[in-house]
Formats: sequence, structure tokens, C-alpha cells
Amino acid sequence: MNKGLEVARGKTKVLYEKPGQPDVLVVVATDNITAGDGARRDEIPGKGRIAAKTAARVFRLLNLCGLPTHYLSGGEDDDDNEMLVRRCAMIPLEVVVRGVAAGSLVRRKPGITRGAIIAPRLVEYFLKDDANHDPLIETEEIVHRGIATPQELGMMSEVARITYEILAHAWRRHETLLVDLKLEFGRVIAGDGRGSLVIADVIDNDSWRVWPQGREDLMLDKQVYRNLAEATPADLEKVRENYERVAEIVGTFPTMRPAMVGFLADGPQAVALLDPIVRAINAFGLQSLRRVVSSHLMPGYVLQAVQQLDATFARLVYVASGPQLAAMTSATTPTPVFDATEYEPDELALAIAKSLALEDTVMFGRVMLVQANARSAIVQADSQLNSPPPQPTTLG
Ligand code: 5GP
Repeated sequence: MNKGLEVARGKTKVLYEKPGQPDVLVVVATDNITAGDGARRDEIPGKGRIAAKTAARVFRLLNLCGLPTHYLSGGEDDDDNEMLVRRCAMIPLEVVVRGVAAGSLVRRKPGITRGAIIAPRLVEYFLKDDANHDPLIETEEIVHRGIATPQELGMMSEVARITYEILAHAWRRHETLLVDLKLEFGRVIAGDGRGSLVIADVIDNDSWRVWPQGREDLMLDKQVYRNLAEATPADLEKVRENYERVAEIVGTFPTMRPAMVGFLADGPQAVALLDPIVRAINAFGLQSLRRVVSSHLMPGYVLQAVQQLDATFARLVYVASGPQLAAMTSATTPTPVFDATEYEPDELALAIAKSLALEDTVMFGRVMLVQANARSAIVQADSQLNSPPPQPTTLG
């Protein structure tokens, strides 16, 4: 890819301007691996390509769920360890989410058992400062130093938690426990959403702990390298194999899982009743199709329509316009059936999305985001009643 001036250089990547596009950067992942804040450093041929693939697929999944990230494109082709990202002013914090106790948490708090589930998830902030070994920093201190506002901290912790849950969901489908995760945020410097926070930097196999089958001894992440006193070529080859394995698994994380909502109107007069629900499910990016049937005039036709739809779509949910049709449909198919008269449209859309979310990480992420935005709207409405309006804090 055509690259302009070097903008920044980290321990494992180099950032360049994109010629002719001042708001876009090219991130090139290098073959370096480091530990102890750069005190130990090695090169693993091919790691840059593997890391770019991993980060690009993670970002694509998060974007698809509706989370704001700096990722635009690239990074997934075999010959290409370059990603295009929106240019950001980085916030000098490492935001760590923990779902299982490990690492520096158990060193700091010996009372916490290693491997214990942490719920609600713990979000911690570390100041990016290699010379001082990235010290833990309290939220009050972050605000006091002008690093981020309280609103931004609220948004970062919410987005970080949702990111953890989405990636934990995706890993769980491979019988693997996502233990913890580190993210970084930046403020978009130009264009749409200027000044708003997005997940930036990279999320790759250096940024998390992953334990297959929940077993620490099977770990696949960078901790294997951190634990080495000194890395022999054989050690580095083992680390490379782990990174390759992780990229392979992350490569199977969904980029799209189309599901279909089959709307069944009990007679032509019921079609309009379904319209607000069709609009509500659009918020989750679900596709829909509508059929007009009649439970009392043409029961055989209902059966036929349901059999046709069941045979056509692997991932399907029905919405029937009333209780009689819902009961009849339900009796004829193993596919979930919802009765439109039992719910408000938004409620029904959420219930449908949840029913798909168990096995669909994208739908799971969208449900989490819609719920977080609903909570944020309440907090905003509450604060607006008694004070000047705050900045909008929608998550995506
Ligand atoms: P801990 O604080 O337990 O050492 O790390 C918590 C999580 O953040 C782990 O998943 C670890 O991989 C990640 N992490 C901590 N510091 C860094 C860092 O400097 N770079 C990267 N890429 N990840 C980090």
C-alpha cells in the first residue's frame, strides 16, 4: 500500500500517513514481540501478518456489532499486514477488563483466587508510561489530570465491558475462556463524529489472555512469551504456532450471520399491524419477509407457508400477527414463534434478537449495545431535567 510520512512507532507497529487522505492512517504490524515494557524483545518472522489478521477480524466483528472503532479496512489479506484506520488523538490509558482473575490483579490482591470468575466485570485503568511500568491510575486522578472527562470515562468503561462480552462470546464458541482484555481509545480528529471516542490501537493476541477449556496451562496468548526467562528459537517457534492458531480461530469469528424474521399476517387486514415491528427489527440489522395467510379460512396454507420458510432459512424466527395464528404456527414448527399482540414493537424486536443471540455473536453484541444505549438515554434524560444538557454519549 502507498504510505506517506511515519507518524508514530510503537513496540509492535508503525503508523504512516495515507497520501492524499490526512484523516486516515496506515497501521503496519511488525514481527516484534516484547515483554517487561520493552525490556525483552524478539522477532518472530510472520508475526506482523498474523497480528494484522487477528486485529482486523476483531475490529470487523466489533464494527458489525455497532461499536465505534477506528478500523476502516485491510489487514486480512495474506500478503498484507496493513490496516487503514481513522486518525485519532490517542488517550494515554490502557483500559483493562477482567472477567477472570489473573495477572497483575492477583499479584496486587492476594485475597482474590486466581481463575475466579469476576462478575460484574472489573474495569481498570493504567497510565501509558513505560518508564514507570504503566501504573494503575484511579478515575479521579484521570479526570484531575485532564486525561479524560467523567462522561468519557463512563463511555470507555461501558464500551470496554461490551467489547469483552462480545469477544468472550466469540471465544466461548471455541471452548475457550477470554480471561481479560486490554483496549485503548482515541478521539477522532476529523470528519464524521469529530472529537468522539473510538476503540483505537489494536486488539490482538498481545492484548488478551485466552485459556482453552478454561485451563491456564493451555494458554495461547502472549503470556507464554512473558513467562519465558529467555527465549530459545524453539520457544519462539512455539509462540509463533500459538499466534497462528489464535489467528485461525479469530478468522472464524463472524463477519455476518444473516437471520430471517418471517412475519405471518392472519389475513390482509393484519399486514399493517406488523409494520412497526418490521421497523423495530431493522435496528438489529435483521432481514424480514412477510406472508399473508389465514388461520381460520386456509389452515393448510399456513402449514405450507411455514414448511416452505423452514426449508429455506437455516436461522429463522416467526412473528404471527395474533394468538390463534401463533398457536397454530407454533404447533407445526420447531422454529421459535412470537405473538405480535403480546409485545410492544421495540420489546418484540429485542426478544427476537435475544433468541438469536445465544449462537450469534453479532446479534449478542447488538443486543448489548441497544440495552446500553437505552440505559444511557435514561441517565441523560435524568440529568437534563436539572442541569444544562450534557454531551450526547450514544455508544454507536
Ligand atoms: P495484567 O494487568 O493482568 O498484566 O494484564 C491485563 C490484560 O491486559 C492482559 O490481557 C494483558 O495481556 C493486557 N495488557 C497489559 N499490559 C499490556 C501492554 O502493555 N500491551 C498489551 N498489548 N496488552 C497488555
